[in-house]
Amino acid sequence: MLIDGKKTSMIIRESVRAEVSGLIEKNKIPPKLAVILVGDSEASKIYVRNKEKACKDAMILTQTIRENDKITEEELIKIVKSLNDDDTVHGILVQLPLPKHINDTAVIDAIDPEKDVDGFHTINKGAMLLSNKGLLPATPKGILTLLKMEGVSIAGAKVVVVGRSNIVGKPAAIMLLNENATVTITNSHTRDLKSETLQADILIVAAGKARLITADMVKPGAVVIDVGVNRVDDKICGDVDFENVEKVASMITPVPGGVGPMTIASLLENTVVCYKKKMRLS
Ligand code: NAP
Repeated sequence: MLIDGKKTSMIIRESVRAEVSGLIEKNKIPPKLAVILVGDSEASKIYVRNKEKACKDAMILTQTIRENDKITEEELIKIVKSLNDDDTVHGILVQLPLPKHINDTAVIDAIDPEKDVDGFHTINKGAMLLSNKGLLPATPKGILTLLKMEGVSIAGAKVVVVGRSNIVGKPAAIMLLNENATVTITNSHTRDLKSETLQADILIVAAGKARLITADMVKPGAVVIDVGVNRVDDKICGDVDFENVEKVASMITPVPGGVGPMTIASLLENTVVCYKKKMRLS
């Protein structure tokens, strides 16, 4: 069965829009997300454009600050701090990756943790580690929501996560562990990836390697979540050999149309969480 992330994300986006509409009516102040985009990577520009559009649809204001890639870390942190001090801004997002001469962590940790819509601030990562509380990173949060909305039982399930990045693999593994799954995290040094993936009731793949996971690596009946976004021959594909794995898995996300739209929906949800906190509504 196909897990339709696009459809599920639209349900969430509709509900965010309804909530935002009520919040604006009551408080007369709209939620606002500030986005900082450094450099002119085409991929980053597309991601930012999609986020701006999703915010607009949900009646969330956006303010995008564009800087060229010569900006220094100090200057960037100064911009972040001015947004921290701006009471009309409820959420701040720094589009990653940043140019090599800038330390991502230093910039992210300059964001007011209560405005950190990406959930990447060290304080929010710590809160997530302890109990899935605070602002959760958008992609793993989207995966968890998708699994729950599809009725996949997580407690007691054997989960294998392929990839351990700080933005996807590691937080996804921790969030599922906090939901009582038994979790294995693999990385590029894992000796026998197939023997690990074959154990998975829920297989989450975030390696950034086109079609890394083939049908013989998947346990029949497993739920497969493909996070990968790869461009091959001018087409987008995931990290899973979808055509063949679909025949083995009980449920599978497509690429595009799976995890990607859920990431955006989670970002909107996080912006509303930040707004309510700043407005002392939660
Ligand atoms: P990343 O930072 O490059 O991390 C990739 C991870 O995969 C690393 O931990 C790496 O291991 C591991 N890996 C690579 N080859 C492996 C192998 N053969 N076996 C096991 N592990 C392997 O990537 P990322 O930021 O997590 O993103 C992963 C993919 O998801 C990318 O395609 C990205 O575009 C996509 N993505 C999608 C969304 C969305 O919303 N749909 C959001 C974020 C990312 P090492 O640590 O040992 O190097």
